[in-house]
Amino acid sequence: MLIILLGPPGAGKGTQAERLVKEFAFAYISTGDILRKAVKEKTILGRKAQDYMDSGQLVPDDLVVDIVKERLQEPDCQKGALLDGFPRTFAQAVALDKMLLMIGTKIDTVVLLEVDESELIDRLTGRRVCSNCGANYHMKFNPPKVRNVCDKCGGDLFQRDDDALETVKERLEVYKKQTEPLIDFYREKDLLSVIDGNKDIEDVFKQIDAVITDIEER
Ligand code: ADP
Ligand code: ADP
Ligand code: ZN
Repeated sequence: MLIILLGPPGAGKGTQAERLVKEFAFAYISTGDILRKAVKEKTILGRKAQDYMDSGQLVPDDLVVDIVKERLQEPDCQKGALLDGFPRTFAQAVALDKMLLMIGTKIDTVVLLEVDESELIDRLTGRRVCSNCGANYHMKFNPPKVRNVCDKCGGDLFQRDDDALETVKERLEVYKKQTEPLIDFYREKDLLSVIDGNKDIEDVFKQIDAVITDIEER
């Protein structure tokens, strides 16, 4: 099983992925998480990616395509994988199709989370992330039990630099220009499952759960 989570920054992809991975035992592949780890560890990849990420631009396709190609061939992906934040350009989508042909697998569905723009801005500017385990919170919509402390591991929560208002606006523009065209690309392949992402976290989860359960039962 291969599921892609598609949607603008702040749509709730990471939040839903956390729950889906528990429910369905997928391997979780978030290119954003992989890149942030590389930046933190100052690896070659991280040094190449940092300036793009800080300014809200996409990192070059070849960097992310290589990451995903390697990751998809790791043994845990055999039982199924959930892709979050990839593909994000037409070139990445084409590269993914090529990879999948090589490893003999295919995309089961592309889950599109649709959320209104004003809601996206509120979600992103209030987002907090655990510095230890990466869990996602929101100051208002999904607060931790203790202020700035992760419920799951006790780690400190922080605000991502790219969640500042100006960078958020830039990222939403980048999404519209570079990623939104993928919606039609996957719709034409009859792979798109459209989800109303404006609803609360539980309701969105139920919608996605129903889509995946339906695929499993086919
Ligand atoms: P969000 O969860 O807010 O959508 P991500 O964590 O997925 O953001 O991505 C953070 C940043 O990492 C992006 O702004 C971009 O610079 C980089 N990035 C992540 N995935 C990709 C990708 N598939 N292609 C290019 N850049 C990416
Ligand atoms: P993405 O990975 O798509 O960028 P996240 O999952 O990180 O999005 O969610 C962005 C922010 O919005 C986080 O602070 C998260 O807690 C919050 N959030 C996610 N889903 C919802 C929802 N359905 N309703 C309200 N807030 C949400
Ligand atoms: Zn944590």
